[in-house]
Amino acid sequence: MRYRSAGEYYKELFGTKVYRIALSAGCTCPNRDGKLGYGGCIFCSGSGSGEFAASRDLPVREQLRVAKEKVAAKNKDGKYIAYFQNFTNTYGDEEVLLSKYEEAIADPEVVGLAIGTRPDCISERMYEILSDLAGRTYLWVELGLQTIHEASAKWMRRGYALPVFEEAVRRLSQIPGNLGVIVHVISDLPVETKEQMLETVSYCAHLPIHGIKIANLNVLRNTDLAAEYEKKPFPLMDRNEYSAFAAEAVERLRPDMVVYRLTGDGAKRDLIAPLWVADKRMTRNTIDAYFREHDVVQGRLY
Ligand code: SF4
Repeated sequence: MRYRSAGEYYKELFGTKVYRIALSAGCTCPNRDGKLGYGGCIFCSGSGSGEFAASRDLPVREQLRVAKEKVAAKNKDGKYIAYFQNFTNTYGDEEVLLSKYEEAIADPEVVGLAIGTRPDCISERMYEILSDLAGRTYLWVELGLQTIHEASAKWMRRGYALPVFEEAVRRLSQIPGNLGVIVHVISDLPVETKEQMLETVSYCAHLPIHGIKIANLNVLRNTDLAAEYEKKPFPLMDRNEYSAFAAEAVERLRPDMVVYRLTGDGAKRDLIAPLWVADKRMTRNTIDAYFREHDVVQGRLY
């Protein structure tokens, strides 16, 4: 492996393959409920990102049961990570959210919990809850940063400034136990140069975080980004260009960081551009081939 993938990391940690199951905690997001705005981030499709095996309205244990049934044949060792993925999963009544997290980790086949959120939506009580959970299970807190550049953050309507993110990372990284912070970044933004995107990656590599998800910008139906794109299409990298970008990004990461994702993962039915991301296998093969041919090694430029 030329980079430390999630599959490799799970094998080290659990001795086997582990499936992530996307769950819904029934949360919304301050960028959508009016606290900060109603329109959401410019690229957000309104479903808060995430493909679900089960209805999001079901209780967590039911969502888990239905999702596990779908992959059970492939997952012989029956180990799962419960991933609260869509919208902002620490935003809401903390005790209600705690009961949902508890419901997930009560499942004997669930070996860890991942919680996707925003750095400006972690209350004091939520920090206590996360500390407690980190003492009892493997916990990953996933923060959507997307970019370190304030002008780009404004363009995408992220809704918080970089110091807010830095403070959340600082506090989360000080929690003892099994807590890893995973940061999401987006590349191929039409308002950034390649150097700016790589600056975001390098910045992340020097934070006390455990892993990163790098996505290329996906233009999805029913988003303000789609409206902008349809009015005036902006160039997006093709698969080969993106492979070269991913190589440069991986070389800037700390060697021990886990790379959870290297491309975008918008729902196929909503994808407007770039269409090549829909063919995941071809994309993975192209990136792998590029990494081999160019002898890419994670951390070389860290
Ligand atoms: S913070 Fe997340 S869920 Fe909220 S609008 Fe932005 S992308 Fe969508």
